[in-house]
Amino acid sequence: MNFPTLQKGANPSHASHNFSDYKDTYSAFSWTEAWSRISGNAEAVNITYEAVDRHVDNGFGSQAAMRFLRKDGSENTLSYAQLKALTAQFANLLKASGCSKGDRVYGLAGRVPQLYIALLGSLKMGAVFTPLFSAFGPEPIRSRMEIGEANFLVTSEKLYKKKIAPWRDEIPSLNQVFLYDVKGECPENCIDLDAQLANCSDVFELARTSAEDLSLLHFTSGTTGKPKGAMHVHGAVVHHIHSSFYALDLKPGDIYWCTADPGWVTGTSYGIIAPLCHRTTLLIDEAEFEPEHWYQVLQDQKVNVWYTAPTAIRMLMKAGTDMLTHYDLSHLRFLASVGEPLNPEAVVWSQEIFGQPFHDNWWQTETGGIMIANYACENVKPGSMGRPLPGIEAAIMVKDSEGRLKVSEEANIAGELALKVGWPSMFRGYLNEQARYDKCFTDEWYLTGDQAMKDDDGYFWFVGRANDLIKTSGHLIGPFEVESTLIEHPAVAEAAVIGIPDDVAGEVVKAYVSLNSGFTFDEETQKSIKALARKKLGASVAPRDIEVRANLPKTRSGKIMRRLLKARELGLPEGDISTLESDER
Ligand code: AMP
Repeated sequence: MNFPTLQKGANPSHASHNFSDYKDTYSAFSWTEAWSRISGNAEAVNITYEAVDRHVDNGFGSQAAMRFLRKDGSENTLSYAQLKALTAQFANLLKASGCSKGDRVYGLAGRVPQLYIALLGSLKMGAVFTPLFSAFGPEPIRSRMEIGEANFLVTSEKLYKKKIAPWRDEIPSLNQVFLYDVKGECPENCIDLDAQLANCSDVFELARTSAEDLSLLHFTSGTTGKPKGAMHVHGAVVHHIHSSFYALDLKPGDIYWCTADPGWVTGTSYGIIAPLCHRTTLLIDEAEFEPEHWYQVLQDQKVNVWYTAPTAIRMLMKAGTDMLTHYDLSHLRFLASVGEPLNPEAVVWSQEIFGQPFHDNWWQTETGGIMIANYACENVKPGSMGRPLPGIEAAIMVKDSEGRLKVSEEANIAGELALKVGWPSMFRGYLNEQARYDKCFTDEWYLTGDQAMKDDDGYFWFVGRANDLIKTSGHLIGPFEVESTLIEHPAVAEAAVIGIPDDVAGEVVKAYVSLNSGFTFDEETQKSIKALARKKLGASVAPRDIEVRANLPKTRSGKIMRRLLKARELGLPEGDISTLESDER
């Protein structure tokens, strides 16, 4: 089915959008000018100063910065002045606990004030912050803390006891653990964060950080090997401000809701930094997804800009639109989506239901910010990711006759999506993995690992991933990490993990295993493999389905051919199987 282009102007509030012509803005853009819009410069720039303190210095201290909607139904709001003071207290606490510039602070927490204060407070004192998804099981948490050599950890007493205490002593780099929500006596060797914060001064002299100083370490999955720590810098804030101006249409005073968890890069770049830089009021909902609840939040909080993900949109579509008649969503000015392909039906649905399309945009952990987007002032082609942001050059790379990658001169050809290096939020490396980083580049192009196509109008269309990574509910999962846990089960000899299409989650994780002799794949064995995966990896990463095979298909060098398992699962052509050595059949 062909989906017609949604003409600009379909959205009634167009007149008030941040810019009016893509082509003119794109050609007039310069990074020098973008830098001039912030108060820092290449020698001295600090994300927390740009996001929080600057507004207080400019007289906006009393404006609401963050509004927390707690699970118990209560609300608490922090003004920019309060956030400045609390982040200073956290920076002082860190310093008094022996933290120096460049040390690594980890956060394992739900969407609670302590997490946001810790992240911004750490950046204020020059420490490097790593947010971890609180639904992770102990295994992904531990491997990320080991790889990143965590020095400090902020978490709740409950998460600590359940997921960290049993192996805490085995992370030699870990100096101090700060716990919030401590009930009764604080566990041994931990600091009661809530109690101690109150004793710290709320004045802190900002650390002198330059554009190239590290700010955030975000973990992302690799097809092979362990998770990779993508290193980001303070200068990235220029791109956060600039990209959210164009691609999210943010304005001072907006009520903005990004539904992503800060454990993922979207929840940090656009769930904390960018909206604060624009002096919006950031809505933070602690609860999990539930359609009625979300509509209620959009109405009651008078949300203007809403940034969410395709899985959630598909779940809203599935929940039906009858319930919508009860809600007044007239404050919504701009809708955006990211993280996985947004099907054209969802864009058309949103135009019908909300009177405006969801604007899909594309980026990844490594790019640090939005690279390709649909804009309020431009036509939207349902199913397309849109066009590169001003300042971003994107291209499709194809192989020439000698097998070298080159930029495709022709439109409508599928190839690898590449970005010309040089934008401020680009990752500066994978921690301690120079070779893996170097492999991401050819000449002056960063290779994204995604297959895409560019049409005659310069719109980009997602085709698929060039590797075996799985995207489920917007979360990127490396098969290797899941397979490593599965083979820890005594019954499992080998494991291969793939993503299979799912109407709602995009993909779900499926595992194939072969068994050690003496084991049968009875109900009890299946249950216990699944239980181990859930316990160690967390429910969001563990396979939903496990099948047994006598052998898994392998190449001559012994590599399991996930691609082949996937083709067979989906009934697709098997492709080149010349390297196939042993097979499942
Ligand atoms: P992550 O690094 O976890 O944010 O995952 C990045 C990956 O998610 C990209 O490389 C894409 O494969 C996928 N992705 C992100 N946004 C989109 C989008 N708008 N359309 C299709 N895939 C997307």
